[in-house]
Amino acid sequence: MSTGEILREAVESLTPIGLEAKAILEAGGLVSDGIAIKIVRERLDQPDAQLGFVLDGFPRTVRQAEALDEIIKNRGSLIVIAFVVPDEEVVRRLSRRRVCRQCGTNYGDGQGELPSTCMQCGCELVLRSDDCEDIVRKRLALYHRLTQPLVEFYGGRPTFGTIDGSQPLATVAATVAATVAKYKQGEPLCAGSSAS
Ligand code: AMP
Repeated sequence: MSTGEILREAVESLTPIGLEAKAILEAGGLVSDGIAIKIVRERLDQPDAQLGFVLDGFPRTVRQAEALDEIIKNRGSLIVIAFVVPDEEVVRRLSRRRVCRQCGTNYGDGQGELPSTCMQCGCELVLRSDDCEDIVRKRLALYHRLTQPLVEFYGGRPTFGTIDGSQPLATVAATVAATVAKYKQGEPLCAGSSAS
């Protein structure tokens, strides 16, 4: 589940949360911890999340991380993977990324040419309004100030690993799979070191 995706849907559907979040998303800010935690709590209560889930974009603050520990108490282990990517590579990737206006599919990983329309539904591909460079730099500044402290928060846990996210998508995906497999075999994920 992606909190960003849930928020973008809420903005589209003009729900109370969407109306509150719209300007924040457009400016590259973070919605309040209260809203983010409420979204995750409700989503993880759904039947399809009972056997396990992957969280994307959450937690983004220490307060969210503390709430997550509480939400998933007695629900099994939390594996945390930090994808490390230099800021300039993040700016390069996001200025190239295009998303489908209709179904939200992302395009732009790798160096190849981008398709002109969505390969899933045929709709138009657009630059996300918060992917323009000045907003991305603001999001990165918030990331360093509020989200990076989570490396310290989770760093001492055997279920925390880091992966070099600047590698090609297929390599990153394979490393994630290997990291999870390693945990399942009972090995610590070696906090702070490459998990490949
Ligand atoms: P993302 O799709 O993860 O890049 O998120 C898009 C935007 O949604 C972010 O720039 C924030 O404005 C908001 N957002 C998503 N997840 C969170 C979160 N956990 N806490 C606060 N704001 C969030």
